Amino acid sequence: MATSTVDIDAAILGGGIAGLWLLNVLRNAGYGTVLLESGRLGSGQTLASQGLIHGGLKYALGGALTAASEAMAAMPARWRACLAGTGEVDLTPLRPLSDDFYFFAQGGAAGKLAAFFASKLLHGRVRRLQPDEFPPFLPASTCKCVVHRLDDFVLDPYSLVKRLADLGAPHIHQMDERAKIEVRQHGAIIHTTRARIACNRLILAAGAGNETLLRHLRIPVAMQRRSLRQVIVTGPTLGPFYGHCLTGINRPEPRLTITSHPDGTDAPDNRRWLWSLGGQLAEEGAGRSPADQRRHARHELQACLPWLDWRQVHLDSFHLHRAEPLQPGNRLPHQAFAQKLGNCIVCWPTKLTLAPDLGDKVLPLMSKPQHPDPPVLDLPAATLGTPPWGK
Ligand SMILES: Cc1cc2nc3c(=O)[nH]c(=O)nc-3n(C[C@H](O)[C@H](O)[C@H](O)COP(=O)(O)OP(=O)(O)OC[C@H]3O[C@@H](n4cnc5c(N)ncnc54)[C@H](O)[C@@H]3O)c2cc1C
Repeated sequence: MATSTVDIDAAILGGGIAGLWLLNVLRNAGYGTVLLESGRLGSGQTLASQGLIHGGLKYALGGALTAASEAMAAMPARWRACLAGTGEVDLTPLRPLSDDFYFFAQGGAAGKLAAFFASKLLHGRVRRLQPDEFPPFLPASTCKCVVHRLDDFVLDPYSLVKRLADLGAPHIHQMDERAKIEVRQHGAIIHTTRARIACNRLILAAGAGNETLLRHLRIPVAMQRRSLRQVIVTGPTLGPFYGHCLTGINRPEPRLTITSHPDGTDAPDNRRWLWSLGGQLAEEGAGRSPADQRRHARHELQACLPWLDWRQVHLDSFHLHRAEPLQPGNRLPHQAFAQKLGNCIVCWPTKLTLAPDLGDKVLPLMSKPQHPDPPVLDLPAATLGTPPWGK
């Protein structure tokens, strides 16, 4: 049974990007905060993500700015400030996997969008490249593409989770499976076998795990799951490449979103790369069998990058749900979500890139800090998860 009570300002449930980001933001703002993780840090969506920190232009492929594209426009600069040490969370040890992200297309699609991309509205967010500026995987002599460079970049999700966990230590703990949560009039109490934690705010940042928590705590907020089947490509000829393929798109969505990740087996100077394929392929592939998705992915690689030889690559896939607040028609939400009900705050960032937006939304829902420096809890530390392709 619990032996003593520790009073804190906030307890966060869940150690994906939402929980880890909020832990750092709240602690930097003077709130005594702990994070409790029931599995392994990042092991839900965050470590499976493509790490793209984007300004939403991939949601403007209908040829006009949208609410979604504009809600995210400021995010790359917010993250760059963190990487430079002038933002709300110190990410200075991290280096982007890529500072470049491209839209590329052969034929008509790019032609229609080129005028929109060139418009003053998008000044500084996207720039058409000359053939001598094309990246190595889009060789100008053979690819015959129109290529635009975006103001987006890519972080390695594993390094990001590790950095946030290092910053938040020693306030990140493994959630005891037998822990009981009691919401009271003036806060909440988490009863673990080794500690009794009394918090003014209980923050639900558990991704898909929020659904069960909401039901147990009888909090009337609804969640939606949008599923996808992401494809992982491995092979000796793959190197780092980051881009959205727009060739022949028939709806305002990238046909393929390609990111590259070190496969974790080699020293940095001899890295082997794998490609993670998202976009329409992953969305539409949610209902396909793994074998069908592999066949479809091979066809899409051949159609989007026909100048490369795809015979030697190995394809795999994994199925995952994106957990978000319920939207009419299960649509894509375009902002981070934070809602306060009593002393509980329910959160979903809805995108990795929107973590700073989530911080902006949660801070005003806090009351004044009362326990800025609580003692470190006598609970085991939570450990880091691994991406679906291993580390
Ligand atoms: C394949 C894929 C690719 C993506 N790519 C991008 C991208 O490139 N850019 C982008 O902006 N967004 C991307 N996203 C979206 C982004 O990854 C998610 O919006 C974000 O990671 C969600 O973070 P989260 O912290 O809410 O949830 P999660 O990362 O799922 O973390 C939830 C955590 O809570 C823990 N947990 C669960 N239940 C409990 C409980 N009861 N108590 C305590 N802990 C609990 C879990 O173990 C987990 O660690 C992608 C998503 C997917 C699936």
